[in-house]
Amino acid sequence: MARLIDGKKIAAQIKEEVKGEVEELLAQGRKICLAVVQVGEDPASSVYVRNKQRACEYVGIKSVLKKLPDETKEEELLAVIKDMNQDDGIQGILVQLPLPAHIEEDKVIRAISPEKDVDGFHPENVGRLCIGEKGFLPCTPAGVIKLLKYSGIEIEGKECVVVGRSNIVGKPMSLLLLRENGTVTVVHSRTKNLQEITKRADILIVAMGKPMFITAEYVKEGAAVIDVGIHRKEDGHLCGDVDFESVKETAAYITPVPGGVGPMTIAMLMRNCVLAAE
Ligand code: NDP
Repeated sequence: MARLIDGKKIAAQIKEEVKGEVEELLAQGRKICLAVVQVGEDPASSVYVRNKQRACEYVGIKSVLKKLPDETKEEELLAVIKDMNQDDGIQGILVQLPLPAHIEEDKVIRAISPEKDVDGFHPENVGRLCIGEKGFLPCTPAGVIKLLKYSGIEIEGKECVVVGRSNIVGKPMSLLLLRENGTVTVVHSRTKNLQEITKRADILIVAMGKPMFITAEYVKEGAAVIDVGIHRKEDGHLCGDVDFESVKETAAYITPVPGGVGPMTIAMLMRNCVLAAE
């Protein structure tokens, strides 16, 4: 029976640390303000934005929300970002994704100043991660590393398998594990023998966007399983990419959904805001 990795508790500890750091920075006369841009009224995005604002309030970071209508033109959004880049009162900028289909996400991400890119998605920050330089780390994969470390799970020399290769989770996740000296394999939708590979993992990170796909048959006895996926089931409850009930019998450690990776993403965003202010 697996031990539960309590993301809520670990995220709360990180937020307490950040709160202290924010107090110190404010006492030194520094400013910390996060600007959040939301285009359209996607209900899930509204929940994420609200949660980020609440976390800011809790740790003492000022936040401003710029809400734009669904029909906002790409150049209008780019102009808003340009103004924010030049505004000394704003240290961090976050554009809530996904954006409406008529706006090119890549263009918007590139428009954010790399010094204010608290999501860590700008190519300059991605490049820094790749070559091991200091920069903003993407919040979700950075949160997964923290979860492993706080739970006393050693990464060095371990067989790590990442399911998924997206720019926001899978790819940066694999780079971070490599930085921690794990032996890393990335699998995706074209991988042959998925099960054979996932079964080798001491640390299995799942970010595939497929509800409850990973069952006990995909997991090695005694593995640590981190579930990044998040889905709302028909009955209204949340679930991940991992079939928790089946995998908990095989794994040694497992994250729940909700209460695993999700809260860590926001805690790491708060960390990045402090870094931006510094
Ligand atoms: P994407 O849809 O961008 O990427 C999914 C990845 O999984 C792709 O690389 C895809 O492969 C791979 N994949 C899909 N099906 C299979 C399969 N059958 N076998 C092997 N690989 C497969 O998703 P994201 O990375 O953005 O997100 C993943 C999940 O994490 C989602 O559920 C999302 O909601 C959640 N999420 C949660 C966050 C949190 O804070 N908890 C933050 C961000 C995301 P290919 O590249 O070949 O298509």
